[in-house]
Amino acid sequence: MTLSKPPLQAPVPNRRTATFLAGWNEGTFPLRGCIACGTVNEPEAEQCSACSATKFESIDASGMATLVSWTVPHHRNVGGDVEPTGILALAELDEGPWWWAALLADDADALEVGLRLRLRFDEVPGVGQRVVVLVKDAS
Ligand SMILES: [Zn+2]
Repeated sequence: MTLSKPPLQAPVPNRRTATFLAGWNEGTFPLRGCIACGTVNEPEAEQCSACSATKFESIDASGMATLVSWTVPHHRNVGGDVEPTGILALAELDEGPWWWAALLADDADALEVGLRLRLRFDEVPGVGQRVVVLVKDAS
């Protein structure tokens, strides 16, 4: 079974996610740069992880990341067979924050910590919201 299917569900924007989810629809991944100390924080940060300041500027991620860890969740289908649902990966963005996303790859056994990845913005059919997935960097 291929593990390279994109997620079929898209996140629903709320107060904390609306800004960066709008960025995903435009093909950008907006991070939160702390104006006080320069630390780059994850998109949902309300307080800087380094200095606790609450004023940020938007910084577009380069789209490059490094694989930190991953897992292959399984589910039991209607026939009772257990099958993998995909690869869920934790990646460190080049700007510093870590991000969980589906990793589209054919073989989870071929993955290794430190693998270079890039972000890709995929359409979820019929939803009108793109999702971010991770793919191996081919360059
Ligand atoms: Zn800060």
